[in-house]
Amino acid sequence: MEDDTNENPLTGSDILSTIFAIENGDFSTNKTDTNQEDEFLQENKRLKEQKLCRICKEEDANIAFLPCGHLLCCSDCAPAMRYCPSCQEYVRGTVKTWLV
Ligand SMILES: [Zn+2]
Ligand SMILES: [Zn+2]
Repeated sequence: MEDDTNENPLTGSDILSTIFAIENGDFSTNKTDTNQEDEFLQENKRLKEQKLCRICKEEDANIAFLPCGHLLCCSDCAPAMRYCPSCQEYVRGTVKTWLV
């Protein structure tokens, strides 16, 4: 019986201190996690912008120019390109690419 009464206040204060620690943001591991997530989201956003069509900036770029290999245009804009917008190389052909 005495064991039970001794145990309960201990676990109760343990829980309380844990809750306080959470409310005060004392978990440094959580902080680094959110920082990493922010960086990841920013990197993700940058990559998303990078793969947008340089001409219309609405569709994803999915047509690569040959022979230079630049991937800058969507399938709507690529046919109008006689020269690569990046390196000005004459476009001899195009390759449809897929990002899965
Ligand atoms: Zn486009
Ligand atoms: Zn090029």
